[in-house]
Amino acid sequence: MSQTSTTPLLKATGIKVAYGGILAVKRVSFEVRPGELVSLIGANGAGKTTTLKAITGLQPLADGEIALMGKTTRGQGAWDLVKQGLVMVPEGRGTFTRMTIVENLQMGAFLRNDPRGVQDDIEKVFGLFPRLKERRHQLAGTMSGGEQQMLAMGRALMARPRLLLLDEPSMGLSPIMVDKIFEVVADIHRQGTAILLVEQNAMRALSLADRAYVMDSGEITMSGPAKALAEDPKVKAAYLGE
Ligand code: ATP
Repeated sequence: MSQTSTTPLLKATGIKVAYGGILAVKRVSFEVRPGELVSLIGANGAGKTTTLKAITGLQPLADGEIALMGKTTRGQGAWDLVKQGLVMVPEGRGTFTRMTIVENLQMGAFLRNDPRGVQDDIEKVFGLFPRLKERRHQLAGTMSGGEQQMLAMGRALMARPRLLLLDEPSMGLSPIMVDKIFEVVADIHRQGTAILLVEQNAMRALSLADRAYVMDSGEITMSGPAKALAEDPKVKAAYLGE
Protein backbone atom coordinates (compact mmCIF):
# COMPACT_ATOMS: atom_id res chain seq x y z
CA MET A 1 0.00 0.00 0.00
CA SER A 2 1.41 3.40 -0.85
CA GLN A 3 1.70 6.06 1.80
CA THR A 4 -0.73 8.95 1.49
CA SER A 5 -1.13 12.12 3.51
CA THR A 6 -4.00 10.44 5.35
CA THR A 7 -1.90 7.45 6.43
CA PRO A 8 -1.33 7.69 10.17
CA LEU A 9 2.30 7.86 11.20
CA LEU A 10 1.58 5.22 13.80
CA LYS A 11 -1.42 2.99 14.10
CA ALA A 12 -2.00 0.35 16.74
CA THR A 13 -4.90 -2.00 16.11
CA GLY A 14 -6.21 -4.30 18.83
CA ILE A 15 -2.84 -4.82 20.44
CA LYS A 16 -2.37 -7.13 23.40
CA VAL A 17 0.80 -7.42 25.45
CA ALA A 18 1.33 -10.01 28.17
CA TYR A 19 3.87 -10.60 30.91
CA GLY A 20 3.78 -14.34 31.47
CA GLY A 21 0.08 -15.17 31.46
CA ILE A 22 -1.03 -11.70 32.56
CA LEU A 23 -2.33 -9.22 29.99
CA ALA A 24 -0.94 -5.75 30.72
CA VAL A 25 -2.38 -4.26 27.49
CA LYS A 26 -5.76 -5.61 26.37
CA ARG A 27 -6.88 -5.00 22.79
CA VAL A 28 -5.78 -1.38 22.54
CA SER A 29 -6.12 0.75 19.40
CA PHE A 30 -4.87 4.27 18.78
CA GLU A 31 -3.13 6.35 16.18
CA VAL A 32 -0.81 9.32 15.78
CA ARG A 33 -1.05 11.39 12.61
CA PRO A 34 1.83 13.35 11.09
CA GLY A 35 2.75 16.37 13.22
CA GLU A 36 0.30 15.54 16.01
CA LEU A 37 1.02 15.68 19.72
CA VAL A 38 -0.95 12.81 21.22
CA SER A 39 -0.91 12.02 24.91
CA LEU A 40 -1.51 8.73 26.65
CA ILE A 41 -2.55 9.41 30.24
CA GLY A 42 -3.54 7.13 33.07
CA ALA A 43 -2.63 6.02 36.56
CA ASN A 44 0.39 4.07 37.66
CA GLY A 45 0.35 0.56 36.24
CA ALA A 46 -2.29 1.32 33.58
CA GLY A 47 -0.08 -0.12 30.83
CA LYS A 48 1.34 3.05 29.27
CA THR A 49 5.00 2.09 29.38
CA THR A 50 4.17 -1.39 28.15
CA THR A 51 2.36 0.15 25.19
CA LEU A 52 5.46 2.19 24.29
CA LYS A 53 7.63 -0.90 24.61
CA ALA A 54 5.33 -2.74 22.23
CA ILE A 55 5.61 0.10 19.70
CA THR A 56 9.41 -0.03 19.70
CA GLY A 57 9.48 -3.83 19.70
CA LEU A 58 11.01 -4.14 23.17
CA GLN A 59 7.99 -6.15 24.25
CA PRO A 60 6.39 -8.61 21.79
CA LEU A 61 2.74 -8.38 20.78
CA ALA A 62 0.48 -11.22 21.90
CA ASP A 63 -2.07 -10.05 19.35
CA GLY A 64 -2.99 -7.13 17.11
CA GLU A 65 -0.81 -5.03 14.88
CA ILE A 66 1.29 -1.90 14.93
CA ALA A 67 1.97 -0.07 11.68
CA LEU A 68 4.50 2.69 11.11
CA MET A 69 3.61 4.81 8.07
CA GLY A 70 1.27 2.08 6.89
CA LYS A 71 3.80 -0.74 7.19
CA THR A 72 3.67 -3.36 9.93
CA THR A 73 6.46 -3.19 12.48
CA ARG A 74 6.32 -6.95 12.95
CA GLY A 75 9.69 -8.46 12.10
CA GLN A 76 11.45 -5.08 12.01
CA GLY A 77 14.34 -4.58 14.42
CA ALA A 78 14.62 -1.61 16.75
CA TRP A 79 17.26 0.00 14.53
CA ASP A 80 15.07 -0.33 11.44
CA LEU A 81 12.39 1.59 13.28
CA VAL A 82 14.84 4.27 14.43
CA LYS A 83 15.99 4.67 10.83
CA GLN A 84 12.40 5.34 9.85
CA GLY A 85 12.12 8.04 12.49
CA LEU A 86 10.61 6.23 15.47
CA VAL A 87 12.66 7.31 18.48
CA MET A 88 11.92 6.77 22.16
CA VAL A 89 13.06 8.59 25.28
CA PRO A 90 12.58 5.90 27.92
CA GLU A 91 11.33 6.31 31.45
CA GLY A 92 14.40 6.81 33.62
CA ARG A 93 16.20 8.50 30.68
CA GLY A 94 18.86 5.85 29.95
CA THR A 95 21.72 8.25 29.30
CA PHE A 96 25.23 6.84 29.01
CA THR A 97 26.46 7.93 32.42
CA ARG A 98 30.19 7.50 31.75
CA MET A 99 30.12 9.51 28.56
CA THR A 100 30.09 13.27 28.27
CA ILE A 101 27.09 15.24 27.10
CA VAL A 102 28.57 15.71 23.62
CA GLU A 103 29.36 11.99 23.38
CA ASN A 104 25.80 11.11 24.39
CA LEU A 105 24.47 13.41 21.69
CA GLN A 106 26.79 11.86 19.13
CA MET A 107 25.48 8.42 20.12
CA GLY A 108 21.99 9.63 19.23
CA ALA A 109 23.24 10.23 15.69
CA PHE A 110 24.77 6.76 15.53
CA LEU A 111 22.88 5.76 12.38
CA ARG A 112 23.57 8.98 10.50
CA ASN A 113 26.17 9.50 7.86
CA ASP A 114 26.30 13.28 7.63
CA PRO A 115 28.93 14.64 10.07
CA ARG A 116 28.16 18.26 9.18
CA GLY A 117 24.42 17.77 9.73
CA VAL A 118 25.16 16.06 13.04
CA GLN A 119 27.28 19.01 14.15
CA ASP A 120 24.50 21.43 13.16
CA ASP A 121 21.98 19.36 15.10
CA ILE A 122 24.18 19.34 18.21
CA GLU A 123 24.11 23.14 18.03
CA LYS A 124 20.32 23.05 17.66
CA VAL A 125 20.03 20.85 20.77
CA PHE A 126 22.26 23.33 22.61
CA GLY A 127 19.90 26.07 21.46
CA LEU A 128 16.95 24.23 23.03
CA PHE A 129 18.90 23.37 26.18
CA PRO A 130 21.62 25.98 26.86
CA ARG A 131 22.40 24.13 30.10
CA LEU A 132 23.72 21.20 28.06
CA LYS A 133 26.05 23.50 26.17
CA GLU A 134 27.51 24.93 29.39
CA ARG A 135 28.23 21.39 30.56
CA ARG A 136 29.07 19.73 27.28
CA HIS A 137 32.24 18.04 28.53
CA GLN A 138 30.72 16.88 31.81
CA LEU A 139 29.97 13.17 32.36
CA ALA A 140 26.23 12.51 32.04
CA GLY A 141 26.21 10.49 35.28
CA THR A 142 27.15 13.55 37.31
CA MET A 143 24.19 15.64 36.15
CA SER A 144 20.86 16.27 37.89
CA GLY A 145 17.71 14.37 36.93
CA GLY A 146 16.39 17.36 34.99
CA GLU A 147 19.63 17.75 33.08
CA GLN A 148 19.63 14.05 32.26
CA GLN A 149 16.07 14.37 30.95
CA MET A 150 17.22 17.26 28.75
CA LEU A 151 20.11 15.12 27.53
CA ALA A 152 17.89 12.12 26.82
CA MET A 153 15.56 14.32 24.78
CA GLY A 154 18.50 15.95 23.02
CA ARG A 155 19.97 12.57 22.18
CA ALA A 156 16.64 11.43 20.74
CA LEU A 157 16.44 14.58 18.59
CA MET A 158 19.87 13.76 17.15
CA ALA A 159 18.25 10.80 15.38
CA ARG A 160 15.94 13.28 13.57
CA PRO A 161 12.71 11.66 14.74
CA ARG A 162 9.53 11.79 12.75
CA LEU A 163 7.72 10.46 15.80
CA LEU A 164 9.13 10.96 19.27
CA LEU A 165 7.90 8.67 22.04
CA LEU A 166 8.30 10.30 25.46
CA ASP A 167 7.79 8.18 28.57
CA GLU A 168 7.01 10.29 31.64
CA PRO A 169 9.49 13.07 30.88
CA SER A 170 8.40 15.07 33.95
CA MET A 171 8.81 12.24 36.43
CA GLY A 172 10.75 13.14 39.57
CA LEU A 173 11.68 16.64 38.38
CA SER A 174 11.43 19.96 40.23
CA PRO A 175 8.56 22.25 39.17
CA ILE A 176 10.95 24.59 37.32
CA MET A 177 12.48 21.68 35.44
CA VAL A 178 9.02 20.30 34.62
CA ASP A 179 8.12 23.69 33.10
CA LYS A 180 11.31 23.68 31.03
CA ILE A 181 10.77 20.13 29.77
CA PHE A 182 7.16 20.79 28.75
CA GLU A 183 8.21 24.05 27.08
CA VAL A 184 10.66 22.10 24.93
CA VAL A 185 8.10 19.38 24.18
CA ALA A 186 5.80 22.13 22.87
CA ASP A 187 8.68 23.59 20.86
CA ILE A 188 9.57 20.27 19.24
CA HIS A 189 5.91 19.81 18.34
CA ARG A 190 5.68 23.32 16.88
CA GLN A 191 8.64 22.51 14.65
CA GLY A 192 6.61 19.69 13.11
CA THR A 193 7.70 16.52 14.90
CA ALA A 194 4.89 14.21 15.95
CA ILE A 195 4.98 13.21 19.61
CA LEU A 196 3.38 10.46 21.64
CA LEU A 197 3.60 11.69 25.22
CA VAL A 198 3.02 9.27 28.08
CA GLU A 199 2.36 11.14 31.29
CA GLN A 200 0.93 10.74 34.76
CA ASN A 201 0.81 14.52 34.95
CA ALA A 202 -2.49 14.53 33.06
CA MET A 203 -3.21 18.23 33.44
CA ARG A 204 0.06 19.30 31.84
CA ALA A 205 -0.14 16.66 29.15
CA LEU A 206 -3.69 17.65 28.17
CA SER A 207 -2.74 21.32 28.06
CA LEU A 208 -0.13 20.56 25.37
CA ALA A 209 -1.68 17.73 23.40
CA ASP A 210 -3.90 17.86 20.32
CA ARG A 211 -5.60 14.60 21.23
CA ALA A 212 -5.35 12.14 24.09
CA TYR A 213 -6.20 8.61 25.12
CA VAL A 214 -7.00 7.65 28.70
CA MET A 215 -5.70 4.26 29.74
CA ASP A 216 -6.95 2.27 32.70
CA SER A 217 -6.08 -1.32 33.66
CA GLY A 218 -4.67 -2.09 30.22
CA GLU A 219 -7.55 -0.61 28.23
CA ILE A 220 -8.29 2.69 26.51
CA THR A 221 -11.34 3.98 28.35
CA MET A 222 -11.70 7.42 26.74
CA SER A 223 -10.24 9.36 23.84
CA GLY A 224 -10.74 12.62 22.02
CA PRO A 225 -9.47 16.17 21.64
CA ALA A 226 -7.27 17.01 24.62
CA LYS A 227 -9.29 20.14 25.42
CA ALA A 228 -12.55 18.20 25.61
CA LEU A 229 -10.98 15.54 27.83
CA ALA A 230 -9.55 18.18 30.16
CA GLU A 231 -13.08 19.50 30.64
CA ASP A 232 -14.71 16.11 31.04
CA PRO A 233 -16.01 15.62 34.62
CA LYS A 234 -14.92 11.96 34.69
CA VAL A 235 -11.38 12.82 33.63
CA LYS A 236 -11.29 15.71 36.07
CA ALA A 237 -12.39 13.49 38.94
CA ALA A 238 -10.05 10.61 38.16
CA TYR A 239 -6.91 12.27 36.85
CA LEU A 240 -6.95 16.00 37.45
CA GLY A 241 -7.55 15.87 41.19
CA GLU A 242 -10.88 17.71 41.04
P1 ATP B 1 4.02 3.41 35.30
O1 ATP B 1 3.73 4.84 35.20
O2 ATP B 1 4.11 2.90 36.70
O3 ATP B 1 5.17 2.95 34.45
P2 ATP B 1 2.32 2.31 33.30
O4 ATP B 1 0.96 2.81 32.98
O5 ATP B 1 3.41 2.70 32.40
O6 ATP B 1 2.68 2.70 34.76
P3 ATP B 1 3.19 -0.37 32.91
O7 ATP B 1 4.55 -0.10 33.45
O8 ATP B 1 3.04 -0.53 31.47
O9 ATP B 1 2.20 0.75 33.40
O10 ATP B 1 2.61 -1.66 33.66
C1 ATP B 1 1.38 -2.28 33.31
C2 ATP B 1 1.20 -3.56 34.10
O11 ATP B 1 2.17 -4.51 33.71
C3 ATP B 1 1.36 -3.37 35.60
O12 ATP B 1 0.42 -4.18 36.25
C4 ATP B 1 2.77 -3.83 35.87
O13 ATP B 1 2.87 -4.34 37.17
C5 ATP B 1 2.94 -4.92 34.83
N1 ATP B 1 4.35 -5.03 34.39
C6 ATP B 1 5.12 -4.05 33.89
N2 ATP B 1 6.34 -4.50 33.57
C7 ATP B 1 6.36 -5.81 33.89
C8 ATP B 1 7.34 -6.85 33.82
N3 ATP B 1 8.56 -6.62 33.29
N4 ATP B 1 6.99 -8.08 34.24
C9 ATP B 1 5.76 -8.34 34.75
N5 ATP B 1 4.79 -7.41 34.84
C10 ATP B 1 5.08 -6.16 34.44
